Amino acid sequence: MSTITAEQIALALSRALSTVSPGQSGAGSTVGAAEVACDGVFATIDEAVAAAKAAQREFIGYSLADRRQIVRAIREFALAPENLDFMASEAVRQTGMGNREHKILKNRAVAELTPGVEDLMTEAWSGDDGLTTLEMSPYGVIGAITPTTNPTETIICNSIGMLAAGNAVVFSPHPRAKELSIWLVAHLNRVLDSVGAPVNLITMVREPSIEATNEMMAHPDVRLLVATGGPGIVDTVLRSGKKAIGAGAGNPPCVVDRTADIPRAARHIVDGASFDNNIPCVAEKEIIAVDAICDLLIFHLEKNGAYLVTDPTIVDQLVALTVNGNHPRTEWVGKSATAILQAIGVTPPAGTRLIILETPLDHPFVQNEMMMPIVPIVRAHDVDEAIDWAIDCEHGNRHTAIMHSSDVNALTRMAKLIQTTIFVKNGPSYAGLGIGGEGFCSFTIAGPTGEGLTSARTFTRKRRCVLVGALNVR
Ligand code: NAD
Repeated sequence: MSTITAEQIALALSRALSTVSPGQSGAGSTVGAAEVACDGVFATIDEAVAAAKAAQREFIGYSLADRRQIVRAIREFALAPENLDFMASEAVRQTGMGNREHKILKNRAVAELTPGVEDLMTEAWSGDDGLTTLEMSPYGVIGAITPTTNPTETIICNSIGMLAAGNAVVFSPHPRAKELSIWLVAHLNRVLDSVGAPVNLITMVREPSIEATNEMMAHPDVRLLVATGGPGIVDTVLRSGKKAIGAGAGNPPCVVDRTADIPRAARHIVDGASFDNNIPCVAEKEIIAVDAICDLLIFHLEKNGAYLVTDPTIVDQLVALTVNGNHPRTEWVGKSATAILQAIGVTPPAGTRLIILETPLDHPFVQNEMMMPIVPIVRAHDVDEAIDWAIDCEHGNRHTAIMHSSDVNALTRMAKLIQTTIFVKNGPSYAGLGIGGEGFCSFTIAGPTGEGLTSARTFTRKRRCVLVGALNVR
């Protein structure tokens, strides 16, 4: 049994930070192969799973206090300013998506607000026949698949929740975020090692690929699968024959009712829809506005940094640039509004954060999850029509919806009908992640399988322990 002290954490952090210099980038930022071999990064899935399994067996002997200290060490590592800056800059460089400032906010939120050991609850029954407890116990080794859009955020979030619950985790990151994921997994292992936690509680393979992910999913020692990504990977884990948690795609509609505070709604919409260039799965992807306030809303959206496109030729150029059939063109996902406009020969004013345009409901910008700062506006006759249309373009993802209204009946009606995991009222979409809204943070939002915003308790099995004939003191 190990007891991890605050001094060990301080020592661990200073060691881990000494290996990361803020100016590092490119090849210099990648932990060398010889180093990573003992830091959670392996050549094969078999090795990564075997190492995680051995680490988890050792971890069973650790106390809850130890787990708390481990979680604290992960948080402190992630929150070190050099590391926040490095993760944000490198994520933009390696994936070509999003922007540094918002990625710093996202990583900070996940490190500060993801629940730890306190999330695990025990239920108990006591009576004449004794005492029975129902406890949240680890699965063992979890296989976690992570997206390009939140590469470090998801690894930090899943690591905190899964380790707090007593598990080990094998990550399958997106190949486009390979180098940064290796850097993070290796450094998290160093932090864990330095605070006396088992090495290899967090592992991955050096060359992530679809084949490696399939091998990981089929591995008999992986007891739970957690997929954060688009519909393809969620379908794949659900067909695996194993217990699987699917955190899939969204296409969040934002309804603006005539009773809304329009200037405030406009500010929140531009803030939410331009956040990290619209790649968060929760970000406002289309606005459905009641006709009576639509012009006023557009006026205020423009005042807050939205660039209104009205010329049909430019609209066609935008579509040709960014849409391929029913999908966004990957090379434009997560690019800035300015870069997108410049690519079609439009120079927007300084401070432009979002592109807006009026479209019909069946437009590809409305129906597809674009993940770009291009947000179409659809005019509805009244709030009931707006709600119906919002349900239509959410496509039953059950992910996120946003509504601006001061009519409690309309808010309640939309919330009941749309059935999304997150429903934000009168705020920016990211308030649903605990950023400027109450509640904890998670970057794995399990709509399809119903766990909701995942946290430590999601990654546990419920186990009943029964003591017969004693310990009842009632
Ligand atoms: P993606 O689906 O392309 O990739 C996600 C992960 O799955 C990657 O690691 C990828 O390598 C892997 N993958 C994809 N298809 C696979 C297959 N057939 N076999 C094995 N592995 C496969 O998604 P992305 O572009 O990285 O991320 C964006 C998507 O993720 C969006 O749809 C977004 O809404 C969604 N997302 C959802 C959440 C959530 O919590 N619900 C969070 C972030 C992102």
